[in-house]
Formats: sequence, C-alpha cells, structure tokens
Amino acid sequence: SGEIEFDDVHFSYDDGRTTAINGVSFKVPKGSSVALVGESGSGKSTILRLLYRFYDLGEGQGRILIDGQDIRDITQKSLRKAIGVVPQDSVLFNSSIQYNIGYGKFGSTPEEIEAAAKSAQMHERIMGFPDGYNTKVGERGVRLSGGEKQRVSIARTLLKNPPILLLDEATSALDTSTEKDIQKALQNLVQGRSSLSIAHRLSTIASADIILVLKDGQIYEQGSFRELVELN
Ligand code: ADP
Ligand code: ADP
Repeated sequence: SGEIEFDDVHFSYDDGRTTAINGVSFKVPKGSSVALVGESGSGKSTILRLLYRFYDLGEGQGRILIDGQDIRDITQKSLRKAIGVVPQDSVLFNSSIQYNIGYGKFGSTPEEIEAAAKSAQMHERIMGFPDGYNTKVGERGVRLSGGEKQRVSIARTLLKNPPILLLDEATSALDTSTEKDIQKALQNLVQGRSSLSIAHRLSTIASADIILVLKDGQIYEQGSFRELVELN
C-alpha cells in the first residue's frame, strides 16, 4: 500500500479568502519519492496538511486518495498509522532517548530501538551520553541540536514503519557532518516508502522520483530532475 492521488484539489483558508491550492492533480506510485518545490506561500505545506487530514476537503474541492480510497472515508486512526511525519522542528518529550524513539510503537524492545537509532545515524551519539539510551533529554537532561532531534524523530518513524511519509526539511544551515548524517538517515527512512517532502536540499530534489514545482497553489512543472533540467 501507499499509492497517493490528488485529484483536482482546491483549498482555501480564511473562509475562502486565501486560496492556497488551486486545482492540483498528481499521482504518487507506491514507494515513490516526491519533492515539493516552490517559493514560500506556494502551497507545499498545505498539500501535506491535507493528506494528513489536518483540514478536510469540502464538496467540489476535489479528492485525495490513498490506494484508491478517499481519505475522508479512512478513520483518523488508520490514517495516522499509515502516515509518518518528520517535521522541520521535531519536538521531543522531556523523557529518555529510549522513550522518545519507542513512543511511536508501544512495546518495542530495546533491540528494535537500537536498530532504529543506528539506521537514523544516532546510535554513536547516544552511546556517548552518560546513561546511553536511558539519558533524559530536555530541561533536565542533555540538550540535542536541531539535527539530532530530527534524527531521533526519524528513528521513531522508522520504528513506526508507515508506508507513507511526510517530510519537512529544515531550511536552517546545518554543519556538513550533521548534514551528511541526516541525509543518510533520511535515505534509510524514505527507502521503500511513498514520500512527500518539502525539499530544500538540492540532493533531496535531485534524488526524488518526481519533482512538483508549485507556484501560486498550482503545479507549474512536474517531472524527474533530469526531465526538468533538460526542459529548462
Ligand atoms: P513554511 O515556510 O515552513 O511553509 P510558513 O511560514 O508558511 O512556513 O507557515 C508557518 C505557520 O504559519 C504554518 O503553521 C501556517 O499554518 C501558518 N501560516 C502561514 N501563512 C499564514 C497566514 N496567512 N495566516 C495565518 N497563518 C499562516
Ligand atoms: P508553503 O508551504 O509553500 O510556504 P503554504 O501551503 O503554507 O505554502 O501556504 C499557501 C498559502 O496559504 C499562502 O498564501 C499562505 O499565506 C496561506 N496559508 C497557509 N497557512 C495558512 C493558515 N493557517 N491560515 C491562513 N492562510 C494560510
């Protein structure tokens, strides 16, 4: 599972005064990665919010389908199971690293948590903490950088193992070693899943199967990186 379709989607905020999405259609074959590109305000975040049913489409605003099923007919609970979200600023609980990684999947074993942390490129960093996986984060524990928080969130999502991913890449400049770790962690996460990313890194855009260039709530261009480069 994990095939996504937007079918002539329209959406506005403020009781119709702010048009955010204005007739967007695209298909994401199962397991494909999509990079959403476009200037601020072009509608990238709204596309992710609609897929997660943060907002619902009304009558005449088109349809969003997962595996052929209208998402309005899927319960919030099963939708949340099917979709993993890695936000730009990952918020962690004031609890242990282990709890923060395992939270998404109740009852996960220490071995599963460690494997997820390895895949998310966080294991070595965690082993450097005084109490390893039992180290607390937040006010009463270690402070994690933005990139580290994001990798913990990636580990949590790996453990949850959803067929669909929504990613919002950080725009902030990260140092090069952190950048490489995150890149690797994201590769491991995206592998084999359908993903929609608000992409800021060139490498994410270049490696996506489909690039959607948005402008004023519409798809301005779409294709593979190669297709778009040859087009311009
Ligand atoms: P990004 O650059 O990551 O897309 P934005 O700056 O567009 O983020 O939006 C940040 C937050 O502000 C979002 O949660 C969005 O819902 C909200 N937001 C954006 N534009 C408006 C607006 N015109 N009115 C109210 N809230 C807005
Ligand atoms: P992007 O993610 O590409 O920056 P958004 O999807 O956040 O774009 O925004 C698309 C349009 O909708 C913009 O005009 C933005 O100001 C507006 N918008 C976004 N979120 C909100 C919100 N919560 N309330 C009102 N307007 C919003």
